[in-house]
Amino acid sequence: MAKIIDGVAVAREMRRGLKARVASLRERGVVPGLAVIIVGDNPASRLYVRNKIRACDEVGIKSFRFDFPQAAAPDEVLALIEALNRRSDVHGILVQLPLPPQFAIGEVLRAISPDKDVDGFHLYNVGGLVVGDTVFPPCTPYGVVKLLEHEGIPLEGRNVVVVGASNIVGKPMALMLMQKDATVCICHAKTRDLAQFTILADILVVAAGQPNLIVPQMVKTGAVVIDVGINRLPDGRLVGDADFKGLLPKVSHITPVPGGVGPMTVTMLLANTIGSAERSGGQARVLTSAQEELS
Ligand code: NAP
Repeated sequence: MAKIIDGVAVAREMRRGLKARVASLRERGVVPGLAVIIVGDNPASRLYVRNKIRACDEVGIKSFRFDFPQAAAPDEVLALIEALNRRSDVHGILVQLPLPPQFAIGEVLRAISPDKDVDGFHLYNVGGLVVGDTVFPPCTPYGVVKLLEHEGIPLEGRNVVVVGASNIVGKPMALMLMQKDATVCICHAKTRDLAQFTILADILVVAAGQPNLIVPQMVKTGAVVIDVGINRLPDGRLVGDADFKGLLPKVSHITPVPGGVGPMTVTMLLANTIGSAERSGGQARVLTSAQEELS
């Protein structure tokens, strides 16, 4: 039977370390601050924002929440971002996605100062990831890397298949694993015969948003399966993209949904915010970049 990777436990352990880093910053008079902007009343977005703010409270990060109505003018939000970019008590700025249709998402993400871009979505940080000089690794793939590290799963020279090629999960995931010297293949909705790729994976990361996409016959015996997907079934259950029960007897490690990658995503947001506060000059041993942590 596979080892079930307990993301809740790994996140809890990491948060203890983060709390200590915040305490050390506070001793030097620096309180890490995260600004969270939410536009509209998408219930899932509201839940994610609540969770992020609760997680900030837990480790001692000060959060600043800004709510805009669904019909908000993009200029209002851009003006707020500009003001937050200049505030010394704000070390991270996050705009909860998705945004209503009147917003050009790229314009909003590029308005955030690259020094405060804790989601890692600004072009500057995306470019950093491509050349292997990351300042803010995007939270979900960063969390997956940390889970793999925690489980002692080697990456160098191993075959990794990433299913899903979005800008926020699949693409940065592939880049981060390439940086770890894995041989990476990336698949998407137009990939023909997905199984011929997934069967080669020593490590399979699935982030497609399609329940039951990965079934046992698509996976090599002993593979590691990291399920990023979150899907709400008509009966209300929350499931990932992989057939968890079917895969259990075949694979060596697997993440559950919920309780796998999800708790790590929020934890890495906290880590990025604290890293930003440390780089802002509040700590004697300043981490030069998150790269130190990734390598
Ligand atoms: P997204 O923007 O919708 O991207 C989905 C990707 O999967 C696209 O690249 C798409 O291909 C590909 N895809 C869709 N159906 C496929 C199929 N049948 N076969 C192969 N590839 C397929 O979604 P996302 O934001 O990356 O999120 C992906 C999933 O992860 C969602 O379930 C989301 O809720 C979840 N998620 C979880 C966390 C967490 O913390 N656990 C964080 C973020 C996202 P094309 O590019 O060809 O369209």
